Amino acid sequence: MKEVIAEMERYAITNNVPIIELDSIKFIMKYIKLNNVKNVLEIGSAIGYSAILMANATDNVEITTIEKDEKRYKEAVKNVNKCGLDKRIDIVFNDALEVNLAGHSYDLIFIDAAKGSYIKFFEKFCHYLNPGGVIITDNLKFHGLVNNKSSVNTKSLRGIVDKIEKYISFLNDNKDYITKFYDIGDGLSVSIKKNNEK
Ligand code: SAH
Ligand code: MG
Repeated sequence: MKEVIAEMERYAITNNVPIIELDSIKFIMKYIKLNNVKNVLEIGSAIGYSAILMANATDNVEITTIEKDEKRYKEAVKNVNKCGLDKRIDIVFNDALEVNLAGHSYDLIFIDAAKGSYIKFFEKFCHYLNPGGVIITDNLKFHGLVNNKSSVNTKSLRGIVDKIEKYISFLNDNKDYITKFYDIGDGLSVSIKKNNEK
């Protein structure tokens, strides 16, 4: 297992795959353990790195993870099999915005796919959250470029940074959730649904 993880870290560097930072995945693993999270939905598997580490947080947490890039999906399947985790990690090859999850619900939803679609992901998947569940989002600092716009000099990058800033406002303005932001790794948010029942 350790060797497969080290191999994935090398693969990510060589092939420019943006895997989660160590401090961030440690934070999420701890969250899974402390809150007895039973199932996770991840948007954006890449090569399965964060899914495999989340599955390692406890010995019974189950992960469903969605990836739309075929090469990365295949790599993720290979890595999950190598770790013997295929019973606990289900990898879905599709665009997350097209996936139908009717009948399923999750304790933790981890949003880590196209930064420009974060609001869409949140609005679609929040309906699949169990009571007391949480939505965690990665890369809210976007490599330090959010809140540091003067250093953003291409139009496409600026577009992404704008969208992440809009997502942060969306979370802050969302009256159904309480969101905390953490300066861990590339910036994480943790959004917990308010209990509206009286
Ligand atoms: N969670 C991974 C990293 C994910 S990188 C880890 O930390 O190990 C983001 C991934 O999201 C990319 O592989 C990209 O192909 C995928 N992605 C982007 N938009 C998507 C979408 N709409 N549906 C599914 N996957 C998407
Ligand atoms: Mg990420």
